[in-house]
Amino acid sequence: MRIDIFNVGHGAAALVVADNNNLVLFDCGHDANGFRPSVYLPQNWRAVQQLVVSHYDSDHVSDLANLRARMPIERLLSNPSISVNEIRQLKLQEGPLTPGMAALLEMKSRFGAVQNEADLAGISIPYFYLPYGPRFSDMNNLSIVAFVRYGDFCAVIPGDIERAGWLALLENHDFRQQLAAVNVFVASHHGRDNGYCEEVFQYCHPDIVVISDGPIQHDSQQHCYDRHARGLNFSRDGWRYVLTTRWDGHIVIDKTLGQAFTIRKGR
Ligand SMILES: [Zn+2]
Repeated sequence: MRIDIFNVGHGAAALVVADNNNLVLFDCGHDANGFRPSVYLPQNWRAVQQLVVSHYDSDHVSDLANLRARMPIERLLSNPSISVNEIRQLKLQEGPLTPGMAALLEMKSRFGAVQNEADLAGISIPYFYLPYGPRFSDMNNLSIVAFVRYGDFCAVIPGDIERAGWLALLENHDFRQQLAAVNVFVASHHGRDNGYCEEVFQYCHPDIVVISDGPIQHDSQQHCYDRHARGLNFSRDGWRYVLTTRWDGHIVIDKTLGQAFTIRKGR
């Protein structure tokens, strides 16, 4: 299995490639001057078996209309507790729908809630989310927090969930158990202050933290995450605790069953 965490500026896009070459794409952000999922994916594959949209914000779907026009996307996972109409109304309060958001809402209405599971050759993707309602009505805290598990490897991809959302999810025993298995912790909300929750690290002891963020980031909390990671060797840079797409670019994780995972710079 391979996981690519792409450098898409202030956005998010990560790709899981299973050993049978099936794909799970986590969010579909892009960099206007650089990487686009809609260019890279069709050059190498014919379909996306599973798309996971962490939450309903434009920076996580900015390239989705293009991708969808260029290759089939066979399944969609997004927070099911909020309806297409509710999302549309909330989004329209901020202005017109972006093409990516319009594509997402169209897909969400077409797919419905019940879909069969993609064949991911032994990878499982347990996920958790909070229900839309009076307690949580903001998009960030409605993020899907997904785990990518393969053999003894586990990564967590938490979208832009904020501290209040983390604390609510920590009430769930199954969620705490998944956190305990995490090797690679993708920081929530691009490493910003409000995505950081110290209590998470009572349960979670990752080897490395990865932050997907852009060149302009005023309140990145890298120094907070440093002390929660055990650290590991990264490419030729030596021992690292936190990686960021801003400084390290495209990041690749490789995992073969029976072997320790490795993490390196992509090309
Ligand atoms: Zn975001």
